[in-house]
Amino acid sequence: MRWTQFLVPTTKETPKDATAASHVLMLRAGLIRQLAAGLYSYLPLGYRVLRKVEAIVREEMSRAGALELHMPVLQPLSIWEETGRTAAMGDVLLRLGGPAGDWRTQTVLGPTHEEVVTEIARAYLSSYKQLPVNLFQIQTKFRGEARPKSGVLRTREFLMKDAYSFDADKAGLDASYQVMYDAYCRIFSRCGLPYVAVEADSGAIGGDVSHEFMVLTDAGEDTVAVSESGDYAANTERATSWYSSCSESADSNAAPQPLTQIHTPGAGKVDDVCAVLGTTPARMIKTLIFDLHSLRDSGGKEIEWRGWVVALVRGDHELNEVKFRKVVKTALADELILGLEMATPESIEKLTDAKVGFAGPQNLAERVDKLIIDRDVSVMTNAYSGANRTDYHVGGVTAGRDFPLDGDKAVIADIRTVVDGDLSPTGSGAALRLKTAIEVGHVFKLGTKYSEAMKAQFLNRDGKPQPFIMGCYGIGLNRIVAAAIEANHDANGIIWPLTIAPFEVLVISLDPRDEHVARTAAELHDQLAAAGVDVLLDDRDERAGFKFKDADLIGVPIRVVVGKKSLAEGQVEITLRRTPGEKQLASPASAVEAVRDLIRNAGSGA
Ligand code: ATP
Ligand code: MG
Repeated sequence: MRWTQFLVPTTKETPKDATAASHVLMLRAGLIRQLAAGLYSYLPLGYRVLRKVEAIVREEMSRAGALELHMPVLQPLSIWEETGRTAAMGDVLLRLGGPAGDWRTQTVLGPTHEEVVTEIARAYLSSYKQLPVNLFQIQTKFRGEARPKSGVLRTREFLMKDAYSFDADKAGLDASYQVMYDAYCRIFSRCGLPYVAVEADSGAIGGDVSHEFMVLTDAGEDTVAVSESGDYAANTERATSWYSSCSESADSNAAPQPLTQIHTPGAGKVDDVCAVLGTTPARMIKTLIFDLHSLRDSGGKEIEWRGWVVALVRGDHELNEVKFRKVVKTALADELILGLEMATPESIEKLTDAKVGFAGPQNLAERVDKLIIDRDVSVMTNAYSGANRTDYHVGGVTAGRDFPLDGDKAVIADIRTVVDGDLSPTGSGAALRLKTAIEVGHVFKLGTKYSEAMKAQFLNRDGKPQPFIMGCYGIGLNRIVAAAIEANHDANGIIWPLTIAPFEVLVISLDPRDEHVARTAAELHDQLAAAGVDVLLDDRDERAGFKFKDADLIGVPIRVVVGKKSLAEGQVEITLRRTPGEKQLASPASAVEAVRDLIRNAGSGA
């Protein structure tokens, strides 16, 4: 490919609004063009990268035994109603809309394909003898993301590889999951991504076991906790830490003091209170109140119930809502929870008789539905908390005395977000470190959530109908491209891993007006292309410095420079984008072989 016949609209300008390195570089290198918020065109250079990623993903999925199919983006709303996911998806599920009664009102743009693929399994997989089956596609997804962000990292339209496994039993699912997990490791390694697989929360997709594949970089929107010894890694949405009841509270062995009220006018926030009390947040208990709305059984009759759930966490810790909600769901297993939201100020006042900021756990248990006590609070002695009286706090608060640790109201659980320096839950003693990361892939053990809801069954060994045991596995192809740039760039531009580079080799003709230079560069280009190498020839009539800047920016890994001076000495220069200082000189006749050697060596190293 010749640059003069290609479209590479590079620019020196750093686009405003772009902060993530991948976003800036993809725009500057002419890989993508924004059409509207969360919508991007891939220009020819960018599309080549996306296609290479796609080829790797497809190859590894096929190697793992998955079968490729292609399902429609347009989906009937009815299929989402079968699984009850219209509500769970909320605004993410994009509906076509239209006049009442029109088919469009009953049609959505697929954000994912569990429903559609389960419908296929229901139709064609009827016996255990046909299982296991893993079906995958590479298809455009649409999601009503509220905040598209960081270029192609979060968009409203993106390319996903999604795979779905169908097994006859739990052991089968475990095996299918492992095969996908291993395939993902190969995919991300081949794409040049430094990744970690972390334990993850399953969110709206469902299921109980899941792992996310994360690329650790500042541009990410997720935070992961990774153990320094490598024995544990989890998304902070679900990460837990080592807990030992005797080491948690510095004061846990001190003799409990009586409760004393302290006047703290206007000090409702933890830091303000600490300043007044002369204590630290770690000695405080935060009392977080949630309004509960549920359906509960009352003497065989279902009644709508409004009450409170209270969470207690240490002043220096944050409540983890994902973990907290799971605990509440288990604690209220007999009720259908219709709503659980941070309490309104009026509701807080009604419960505590005090203004917001002065709630405390003492005497609260009898007035609430559940008191969820973080493990670290359950061992506190002589702590401080709100006094349930406006402008007052109390000291001497002691777990078990001033609020119950057992009985039908109290639940002790891990409901806080891990912090940097917490210990790995494995008990190894290694510290957890918090890092920001980009999620590039996600694997789930779904179980029977979709097959049960959609009555997708097969006949098992005993001839009995049984729902499929399913797994689902997603990879964001666009995110791979952006994450690869996040992990592989310098101040001058992108440094593509060879495997997904838009071109493997860039031949730069430094003096295109010189007939010998132009001819040699063109010949090298043609010979490399004939040898099956992806090669771009910069044949533009531009200054050398300008061409080198563009070369750095677009990041082609291998560079062959043909200049007048060195050619006069019978040589061309071969350099690598990653190690610009190291030059290799070769005669034009041997350059093609030298380049092919570099590609072969990189291949065997990958
Ligand atoms: P996130 O939490 O980042 O929104 P998700 O959990 O919704 O992601 P999944 O439903 O598991 O994502 O989708 C599988 C993969 O698709 C993700 O791992 C990610 O790589 C990609 N992906 C998801 N949402 C987007 C998006 N809005 N833009 C680009 N890629 C996305
Ligand atoms: Mg999402």
